[in-house]
Amino acid sequence: MMIVMKETATEEEVEAVAAKIERVGARAHRISGARVTVIGAIGDVEHDVSVQSLGLEGQPGVDRVMPILKPYKLASLEMAHGERTVLDLDGRKVGGDHFALIAGPCTVESREQTLATARAVRDAGATLLRGGAYKPRTSPYAFQGLGQEGLKLLAEAKEETGLPIVTELMDMRDMEAVLEVADVVQIGARNMQNYPLLAEIGRSGRPALLKRGLSSTLEELLMAAEYILKEGNPNVMLCERGIRTFETAYRFTLDLMAVPVLKELSHLPVIVDPSHAAGRRELVGPLSLAAAAVGADGIIVETHPNPDEAICDGPQALRTEDFAEYARTVEQAAALAGKALAGRDLALA
Ligand code: PEP
Ligand code: MN
Repeated sequence: MMIVMKETATEEEVEAVAAKIERVGARAHRISGARVTVIGAIGDVEHDVSVQSLGLEGQPGVDRVMPILKPYKLASLEMAHGERTVLDLDGRKVGGDHFALIAGPCTVESREQTLATARAVRDAGATLLRGGAYKPRTSPYAFQGLGQEGLKLLAEAKEETGLPIVTELMDMRDMEAVLEVADVVQIGARNMQNYPLLAEIGRSGRPALLKRGLSSTLEELLMAAEYILKEGNPNVMLCERGIRTFETAYRFTLDLMAVPVLKELSHLPVIVDPSHAAGRRELVGPLSLAAAAVGADGIIVETHPNPDEAICDGPQALRTEDFAEYARTVEQAAALAGKALAGRDLALA
């Protein structure tokens, strides 16, 4: 942390800031220029965080405070010495040069719909099956998911196809039930900053797919991931799913630049959700190709045997009959970025 003093700062004010820094165990290194004094607070990451919490910005004589280290540490690529996290989900790898194709319905509606989708995506080489049993809906009057019944259907789909399951946990009270079925727990965009929920998933040790909040910066996303990592759970995937911008021509703006930038900042795999960003099927194909080509570690996409009858998010769902062709083109785009579809051999075995 660097503390830049005002030109008018007195010797006493400089001393008072240095003393405060030393009280939290960091070293205060003074650099006196012709006009201003700068104090470097030197210590490890813990000390840097403590110095940050001193509120030095308001201290007499202080002009500004500039952090040197990133506020997240476990999520940062630097701290991992450049080594990227690769998750192993029942033998299916995600991260590194493995590309995950995660597909399935927005919400589990029925046995037929769930199993038909699971079979189609498995046959097309998908890595994981997605499907919500607890749905975060904007309207409290909209279908909220089948709950436990939905979880049972997901378990049956896994039993039959062998595909590991990604499903959302919204409420800590459903944790036990969700953990019985979920190979990967999805934290929805609206819960990205539900810190007690993140910590609980951290303590559970279960792999997590953490979606970026609707209006969250990448730093906020990484700080949210830090809550899970800090509890000793290293299995976190970040997910870009579109953010709010001034543009109204489409539902959200898919921030594809987030992919290479997150990869510069963090060692965690980055997944892209084109479905929720686009809101309509026609855009999902091209956005998926772009996401794969820009270096995403995977895609999470919605698909339905009969989207016109879907209870939720039908307009954005790919038709399962088109899914094999879609998967083939995504696989080619991923290959451009040096990645191969994970678990294809397992899915087709
Ligand atoms: C979903 O994946 O079904 C979903 C609701 O996503 P998000 O939290 O990104 O809106
Ligand atoms: Mn959906």
